[in-house]
Amino acid sequence: MATILKGTGISGELAIGCLRIEKQGERVPEYRIDERQVREHSERFLSAKTQADAALGKLKEELNEDGRVQEAEIIAVQQEFLDDPAILSGINERIEKDLSNVESAVYQGFEETILVFEQMEDAYWQQRSLDLKDLRSRLLKLLSGEAEEAYGDKDVIVACTELYPAMVLSAKKNRVVGFLVEQGARTSHASILAKAFDLPLLIQVPEALETFTGEERLVLDIGSAEVLGDLSSEEYQEYAQKLAEVENEKTRLLRYRDMEARTKDGVRIELAANIVSAEEVGAALENKADGIGLFRTEFLYMQSAVLPSEEEQFRSYRQVVERMAPASVIIRTLDAGGDKQASCLDLPKEDNPFMGYRAIRICLNEMELFKTQIRAILRASHYGNVRLMLPMIISREEIIRSRELVEAVKDELRSEDIPFDDRMEIGIMAETPASVVSLPDWLDIVDFVSIGTNDLTQYMLAVDRTNPKMQAYYDYGNSAVLRAIKMICDACTAQDTWVGVCGEMAAEKDWIPFLVGCGVKELSVGAGRINLVKQTLEQYSMVECEDYIKRHLT
Ligand code: PEP
Ligand code: MG
Repeated sequence: MATILKGTGISGELAIGCLRIEKQGERVPEYRIDERQVREHSERFLSAKTQADAALGKLKEELNEDGRVQEAEIIAVQQEFLDDPAILSGINERIEKDLSNVESAVYQGFEETILVFEQMEDAYWQQRSLDLKDLRSRLLKLLSGEAEEAYGDKDVIVACTELYPAMVLSAKKNRVVGFLVEQGARTSHASILAKAFDLPLLIQVPEALETFTGEERLVLDIGSAEVLGDLSSEEYQEYAQKLAEVENEKTRLLRYRDMEARTKDGVRIELAANIVSAEEVGAALENKADGIGLFRTEFLYMQSAVLPSEEEQFRSYRQVVERMAPASVIIRTLDAGGDKQASCLDLPKEDNPFMGYRAIRICLNEMELFKTQIRAILRASHYGNVRLMLPMIISREEIIRSRELVEAVKDELRSEDIPFDDRMEIGIMAETPASVVSLPDWLDIVDFVSIGTNDLTQYMLAVDRTNPKMQAYYDYGNSAVLRAIKMICDACTAQDTWVGVCGEMAAEKDWIPFLVGCGVKELSVGAGRINLVKQTLEQYSMVECEDYIKRHLT
C-alpha cells in the first residue's frame, strides 16, 4: 500500500527521486579555549567569513549573469548580514572575552539576531531569520572542514525540517529534483527561489521525517499537494511516464517565451500574471508577463498574526509596481473570508462563509482597515502604473462608497505632501450573479472589469468551489456560466469598458477561445502558464473564437 502525506504545494509539478534527509539543528562543539588559542580561533572565523563571502559573491555574479536579479538580491542580503557589526562583535567578543571556541561563538553570535527576527510581527522580517540560519550553517560547514554534501549520481528529493535558500541554489548541481519540507512558508526566500527555478516544493508536511526514513524512492505530486512512497513498480512507471510528458511539454513551450500573445490572425491579447506576493514578480518578468492582472493582497494579511501596517503594505506594493513599470499592476483590495481566513482579522465563525462576511463587506464595515490599505496602494501608485480593483461587488452603493474613500484618502495625502497617481483607475471584479445582471448600471463609475471565474462559477451554479465532492458540478462549460461571461463582456463592450479575466478559466486550453471570442482584452494567469496560453491563442483566429461561442451557446 502506498504511503501518502498531504502538504502545501508551492512550485513545480512533479518529481521522482530517492529520499535524502538533510540533517539540521545538529549541535556544534562547545568548549572553552585558553587565551593563547584566541588568535587561532579568531583567524579561523575570519577565514571562514572570507570564504563564505567569496562563495556568495560568486553565486551572486552567476545569478546576475543569468538575469536572475531578484535571486541575486537574496544573496546580497546574506552578504550584508555577514558584515553586520552587531553579529560580528557578538562573535568576536565570545571568542576574545568569553573564551568560547569559534564554532559555538558563531552559533551563539547569530542566535541572538535570529531570535530577534523570529519574534518580529512583520511576516517579511520573520522570514529573514531563515537567511541568517542559512548563513550560519554555511559558516559552520566551512569551520568543520566538511565538503558540501555530495548526492551521487541519482535524482534526489531532499526532506528537511526547514528549507534554506542555499539548498535551493545548489539543487541543480546536486541533482536535487524536489524538496519535501516539514515546516516552510509560502513567502520564505527558499520558497521564492524554488518558484523562480520551477523546482517541485511541498511544504508543511509535519510528519515527513518520521514517515520516510530509508533510501526509498518518492514521488512529489505538486498538483495534488502530495508526497507518495512505497508505490508499486507499475505505479512508479505511471508517474515516470507523466514526468516525461511534463518535461516534453516544458521544452515545447519554451519557444513561446519571447513571442507576444496573439491569436492566429494576429490580434494582440494582453497576457498578465496573477501573484500573491511581491516575491513572485521575478517569475512574472521571467515569463514576460504584460503586467500583473491580479495581485491577491489578502495573503499579506493571512501570513501575519497582526494587521499588516501601511508601511509593510506600501513596501510590498511599491516593489511590485516599480519592477513591473511601465506595465500595469492590478492591486485587488483585501478579499479575505470564505476559504481565506486571516487570524489577524479575527473573523467570526460562520455556517456559510462563502456567502458571509468577506471581501468588500469587511472593508466597508471596517473603514480604518480599508483606509490603511487604500493609503498604501495610492502611495505605491506614484511609482508606476497601478489600477485598484474591488472584489465581490454586488451593488452600485459599494462602488460609490469605495470611490468616496479613495477621494478622501487622496485629500489626506495631498495635505501631507505625499505623492500619488491622481488618475489611478478603479475597477471591479465581476464574480457575483449580481454583477452579471447589474453591470450595465454600474459601468459609468467603473474604469475596468476583471472576471473572477472561480467565484462566478461557484455562485452561478451554487457549488462550493472547495468541496471535493462537488468537483463534477463545478463546470465552466455549464451554459449558465458561459452566458454570464458573455453578458459581462457584452455590457463592457457596449460601454467601451476594458474587460479581462483573472480566474483560473483564463488558463484553460478549452475555454481560452471562448473568452477571447467574448471580447476580453486580457487574460491573467499563474506565471508558469503564460507560454501555454500563448500556444493556445496561436491556434485560433477571431472568427474561430466567435464560432466557438456559437457552438457552446446554441
Ligand atoms: C476568482 O474568484 O475568480 C478570483 C480570481 O479570485 P479568488 O480566486 O481569489 O477568489
Ligand atoms: Mg474571487
